[in-house]
Amino acid sequence: NKVLVSGANGYIAMWVVRHFLERGYRVRGTARNEEKCEFMRNYFSKLGYGEQFEAVVVEDITKEGAFDEAVKDVDGIAHTASPFHMNAKTADELIIPAVQGTVGMLKSALKNGSKVRRIVVTSSCASVMSPPSVPTQYCERDWNQLSVQEVKEKGDAAAPMTIYRASKTLAERSAWEFHEKHKAEISWDLSVINPPFVFGPPIHDVSSVKSLNTSLQMWYDKVVLDKPQTKEELSASNSWVDVRDTALAHVLALEKPDASGFIWQEWLDAANSLSPNPWPGHTYNKGFPEVVPASREDRVYHISYDKAKEQRILGIKFHTSLETTKDTLEDFAARGW
Ligand code: NDP
Repeated sequence: NKVLVSGANGYIAMWVVRHFLERGYRVRGTARNEEKCEFMRNYFSKLGYGEQFEAVVVEDITKEGAFDEAVKDVDGIAHTASPFHMNAKTADELIIPAVQGTVGMLKSALKNGSKVRRIVVTSSCASVMSPPSVPTQYCERDWNQLSVQEVKEKGDAAAPMTIYRASKTLAERSAWEFHEKHKAEISWDLSVINPPFVFGPPIHDVSSVKSLNTSLQMWYDKVVLDKPQTKEELSASNSWVDVRDTALAHVLALEKPDASGFIWQEWLDAANSLSPNPWPGHTYNKGFPEVVPASREDRVYHISYDKAKEQRILGIKFHTSLETTKDTLEDFAARGW
């Protein structure tokens, strides 16, 4: 079996590729230039998958027919390539590659993907929720309408996170619309993965702290960086999943997140509680431990997700926050930062 992974050099995608290779698949991964392809070839060759892994350049995912060649001869596709950063000067900088990249992949599969049986699109919880003011549980039937509306109203002046959320919502919507419209002509079905914040050890090309991907950068800034944080910042809560579980979900979704809530202070508590310290000599901020209620039942997460469908279909045994913290700090320590 052969699969195509777009944006294969990214944080999540490198783990997606690795899981596929470990399960015996042949993988074709795309990246935006030859240097990024070379990084992947080296990494996967060192793991012994030199023969099974092929890297190809797709320079511009917004170009008509960008994936026409890449989709040939593959049985499945994981489309992960999409911008996730907070530096866009215009809303289109995120929305156009997110939407056109996704629709472009589906179009190429319609045209040249005669062997393709399933396409998995990496969407996001950003397509599902808009930050609630009271604790709220979401499920796959929910849509983030608010961020799209806000970007419509404010345009480029919308907050960077709102623009990102709108880009993911619009991309997922266009994928479902495309699928609906072309149902009769295609040999594949569509599946989407909606991860919350993804944390855990990176295996992609991170030569310095500055080159960390957005979600791990946020984790690093809160947990590792020796920078005072306000009580308010450390009380903010969200949902998370380990990167390896996210990757596995892509693989399982192609064959046929236990992520739970967090408040930032809990990651600091986890880092401080690990003995031995996975990063010898490094100290972590203490933060404000009192913002975490002692009893689990009293902890309130503002965003949570109904995982019944995931458990029914994929049934992943998820990493715990202590495992994710330990493995990530060990990885950071080994980099000598
Ligand atoms: P990374 O930034 O590590 O990976 C993003 C990938 O998409 C890279 O391969 C990147 O290429 C590619 N990409 C970004 N912008 C463009 C563009 N304009 N044109 C072509 N390719 C582009 O981030 P993640 O691994 O975290 O993200 C992967 C996917 O997961 C994204 O779709 C993201 O929205 C989604 N996601 C991430 C979450 C998280 O917490 N990390 C949570 C939920 C969803 P290059 O390296 O060349 O920039």
